[in-house]
Amino acid sequence: MQAPDTATIKTSNFLRQIIESDLAAGRLDGRRYAGVPGDALALADAPPDAARIRTRFPPEPNGYLHIGHAKSICLNFGLARDYGGVCHLRLDDTNPEKEDDEYVRAIRDAVRWLGFDWVADGVSHEYFASDYFDFMHRAACALIEAGLAYVDEQSADEMRRRRGTLTEPGVDSPWRDRPAADSLERFAQMRDGRHAEGSMVLRAKVDMASPNINLRDPAIYRIKFAEHHRTGKRWCIYPMYTFAHPIEDALERITHSICTLEFEDQRPFYDWLLGHLADLGLLARPLPHQYEFARLNLTHVVTSKRKLAQLVADGHVAGWDDPRLPTLAGLRRRGYSAGALRLFAERIGVSKSDAWIDYATLEGALRDDLEPHAARAMAVLDPLKLVLVNWDEVIGGDRLDDCSAPVHPHQPERGRRHFQLGAELWIERGDYVEQPPKGFFRLFPGNRVRLKYGHVIECIGAERDAAGNIVEVRARLVPDTKSGTPGADAVKVKGVITWVGAADAVAAEIRLYDALFATEHPGAGGADFIAELNPDSLRVVHGWVEPDAARAAAGTHFQFERHGYFVADAVDHRDGRVVFNRTTTLRGAG
Ligand code: ATP
Ligand code: MG
Repeated sequence: MQAPDTATIKTSNFLRQIIESDLAAGRLDGRRYAGVPGDALALADAPPDAARIRTRFPPEPNGYLHIGHAKSICLNFGLARDYGGVCHLRLDDTNPEKEDDEYVRAIRDAVRWLGFDWVADGVSHEYFASDYFDFMHRAACALIEAGLAYVDEQSADEMRRRRGTLTEPGVDSPWRDRPAADSLERFAQMRDGRHAEGSMVLRAKVDMASPNINLRDPAIYRIKFAEHHRTGKRWCIYPMYTFAHPIEDALERITHSICTLEFEDQRPFYDWLLGHLADLGLLARPLPHQYEFARLNLTHVVTSKRKLAQLVADGHVAGWDDPRLPTLAGLRRRGYSAGALRLFAERIGVSKSDAWIDYATLEGALRDDLEPHAARAMAVLDPLKLVLVNWDEVIGGDRLDDCSAPVHPHQPERGRRHFQLGAELWIERGDYVEQPPKGFFRLFPGNRVRLKYGHVIECIGAERDAAGNIVEVRARLVPDTKSGTPGADAVKVKGVITWVGAADAVAAEIRLYDALFATEHPGAGGADFIAELNPDSLRVVHGWVEPDAARAAAGTHFQFERHGYFVADAVDHRDGRVVFNRTTTLRGAG
């Protein structure tokens, strides 16, 4: 599917203003780039950076990306694109236990599917934080030598107790002023695996009395005897996020490091660390700057990886790509287009204060993106047989009548679709009633309606089975009323119904998805979010679809007339099985 060009509807935001002002004031001038990430030494003779800005999208490969990540991807890749820059895909893999190559592959797929690329001018800018472990270790040693870091042998409990509170300053560790040589030796032993996990950590020496708790000598390295998905057992010490992330940014020559608001209090340490490492000659200036924006909170969904993982692990959904999940894999399988997500990201913009975005905003972008693209088709989701009793007289025996309709009502160039009307067809069960309520214009005994793109019919009544259920509706074809033929409009009707012909319609499994959570803010206020699952989030029905729709490739989007947007399921629509997922109804419920 062709995505609309959302680049042309850029709205201004505070990040754009910052970048524009940085560029105008020449604050990014003098940056060098060696073609790959590099420290001060590697950059000394490097040419000026041709990229006007560098941003990065830094997911931890410990889960599947979700709609919140899409906001960050669109933002970071979008800014780089708009300002002649480059956006790096950085796998932030400094936490060995939870990371896996499976997630790395899924992250690449998701970013590409969204329409972005980390290959710029033939150079791939995919990086792994773990590739910087050697440098990080060197930086840690340099800080120790400069008296800016020390090995602390207090227990985790003691450290917590002595950290102080928002109103009380912390207390210096008894190890804080140990000689640098002593810390260096201990740190080497940590690295050599001679100390137990949790027995000691390396801490930056900043200020135990700082009003910002993040500056009270944060831990920067810890012992972890874990196998890493890329470095294997090479390391048994791993850098903490607060230490690793700024260094990753600096080595990659990132100019604008954009993260979510909860990292605002980390910014002073980000600047402290990079400033000292530059002073020590390890990192090149100018240094990157961190900017924070409000994360996406979307009603009716959860986006925490931990909660998503729980839904998958406990079988509340069928997998990471379950169409009810807000993961990019799930949204895609549900039938969300990449263009819809980009449009959504553009519409919500970025701000500096947290807010909830109504799910209807996402669905609005979805419908706006799908409407011009999705081919139309007719489908019957709750089938009831209709028999045209005078077919033999009017059309003649086994003959079928070829009917056609535009693939898209506003795009005649896309041609027409064809399907056959015969003596038997399928209609929606809800389109027939015995006793019509006021304002009901569809089928009831004696009433006339038009079969969309076909003829006018006049209802006679219905057959019931022994239990009294309606099993078949009977009607008479009104001659000379076929859509598109001269005089077809002479017979006026108030109702038009959709249908498919029993001769050529194809049986389909149709999965009717609804919100996974019944509540607007699942799990809000510490409530059990599992208890708020919507028991009706999936209903599977067996219906009939037009032949062209049945033949469509997996992943093809349709608007089933009167019903909404559907997509041929990416996994199960194959080998003669016809499976559609409802992406969304035609209009919101609200
Ligand atoms: P979770 O908290 O669910 O584990 P995360 O923030 O830890 O998610 P990361 O893989 O660390 O996930 O995030 C990668 C990038 O995506 C980060 O830069 C982060 O700021 C951004 N991001 C994650 N969730 C959101 C969100 N809801 N809205 C906007 N950006 C997000
Ligand atoms: Mg995180």
